[in-house]
Amino acid sequence: MRCRTCDRSARHWDWFRRERALRMHWTVPTCSRVCLEVRRQRGVVDPNEFELAAMRRAGDAAGEFIDALGRTDMARWTPAEWVSFVETICGAYVDALIDQQVAVNAAAAKVQGLPG
Ligand SMILES: [Zn+2]
Repeated sequence: MRCRTCDRSARHWDWFRRERALRMHWTVPTCSRVCLEVRRQRGVVDPNEFELAAMRRAGDAAGEFIDALGRTDMARWTPAEWVSFVETICGAYVDALIDQQVAVNAAAAKVQGLPG
């Protein structure tokens, strides 16, 4: 049986807990508590257009980082280089989301007659 959220093998985790009775495992097979919660809030799984745009920008930043480093073999990166790489991706993702929020706020301010 496959997890309904991530397609890994579903397990009978927390089978001894009342809310995770066997019946629930059969009706909502999941591999973990996280996947069960994600399934309950299904919108979290599929990225929306803003998240996809942020991912593209994070991907571009990752490529620029690697180009600047000049070494594509990640196994040979130092721990500090790896941390910088992750910071670059996460930072670009968050920046992209914030930039989109700022743009949406400015657009909303126009129709609300508020200063942008
Ligand atoms: Zn899962």
